Amino acid sequence: MFKKVLIANRGEIALRIHRACREMGIQTVAVHSTADSDAMHVRLADESVCIGPPQSRLSYLNGQAIMSAAIIAGADAIHPGVGFLSENAEFAEMVEEHGFTFIGPSPDHIRTMGDKLTAKEAVKKLGISVVPGSDGPITDDAAAIRIAADIGFPVLVKAVSGGGGRGMKVAHSAAEIGAVLSHCRAESMASFGDDTVYIEKYLAKPRHIEIQVFGDGKGNAIHFGERDCSMQRRHQKVIEEAPSPALSDATRNAIGKRAADATAALKYRGAGTFEFLYEDGAFHFIEMNTRLQVEHPVSEMISGVDLVRLQLRVAAGLPLGLKQSDIVLAGHAIECRITAEHPETFAPSPGLITEYHAPGGPGVRVDSALYTGYRVSPHYDSLVSKLIVHADTRAECVMRMQRALDECVISGIETTIPLHRHLLSEKDFQSGKYDIHWLEKHLARS
Ligand code: ADP
Repeated sequence: MFKKVLIANRGEIALRIHRACREMGIQTVAVHSTADSDAMHVRLADESVCIGPPQSRLSYLNGQAIMSAAIIAGADAIHPGVGFLSENAEFAEMVEEHGFTFIGPSPDHIRTMGDKLTAKEAVKKLGISVVPGSDGPITDDAAAIRIAADIGFPVLVKAVSGGGGRGMKVAHSAAEIGAVLSHCRAESMASFGDDTVYIEKYLAKPRHIEIQVFGDGKGNAIHFGERDCSMQRRHQKVIEEAPSPALSDATRNAIGKRAADATAALKYRGAGTFEFLYEDGAFHFIEMNTRLQVEHPVSEMISGVDLVRLQLRVAAGLPLGLKQSDIVLAGHAIECRITAEHPETFAPSPGLITEYHAPGGPGVRVDSALYTGYRVSPHYDSLVSKLIVHADTRAECVMRMQRALDECVISGIETTIPLHRHLLSEKDFQSGKYDIHWLEKHLARS
């Protein structure tokens, strides 16, 4: 096992990785920007190295600075966390070229799955159905109109390199296609440095259901069931739960097995997530994420397995140590993503935390790097706390989340806690009857 792991990330996810390392007797090295000198991930790590100024581009996205930090600290492995460089194949290569272990899949798998078109192609070959759409990139408006007419409007124009809900836009008619293509190309070029786009059928009422898989890189793989991430705003997840209120055990096992078999066939190493849109009883693959997911705790809560520990084991060359029959999913878990935003306008709300109190009690988990006196920086993602609860049944889980949200105090900034309290009280959420468009429609009405 590794002696020292450098965590190339910040915030709650850096803490999450630190905690797994600590429990395995592994030393941790934090990296941080000058804006994060007092951050919790720096305070708790065994060592820390400053890697640059506040702008992510010059610090958390600066592979060379991170490499220097790993060399100085004498780390043996690098965990990229989520976001930042976690799905950057060149970074993974750089890590390996410098003799460190990259805690994640091979650069080739990151590259194939990072391009949404090659990812769709790869899984199609393994018998997984994908959302209908263009087979390749869209080069001109006329081709786009032909394909769109073929699959039927509305269609979604998506960036091949897109992420975080950016680089996609709906076109309702042939007249709109030209403007939508230009918008997506420009947004994708600005955000991802690549303006390649493709077209997919825009599904009217799907649920977002994703399967957590794990491979050992040698052809063995298991799955941890699904997460339902249909509560979304601007194509970004707001609440996640497991299991999905929309799946039967038989459906769950079938799609789980299909994803695990694909993982095994690819000889994929480490944690991965197959994302699907589920509509009228059919699963349509949209993308694979080759890293830990923000919402991984709901799978941990129902399976009792520490997924970060498993990432470390597999990266160190150890076997998974678990068979599919060892994965027993029990009870229900919900995660609320609490962000530093106004709960109605969603305006960013960075600033000083004047009072912080985390909820507790049975079945409650808080993944957060907040503390009283901490200053939420405007430079980074607005996620400040993940509140996760677990209970025997979904109904009890909803009650428990309401209780936990009521206990949560984050003062000095605006947060989305009031939005979560409201959503948890909504009939459609309580009955589990919501799809990926529900929240947007609900917000437009209120
Ligand atoms: P990103 O990488 O930006 O997260 P995804 O491809 O994973 O993009 O899609 C994010 C979300 O966008 C999905 O969960 C879903 O809500 C919506 N979405 C993506 N593709 C479609 C589609 N073909 N039809 C309807 N909604 C879609």
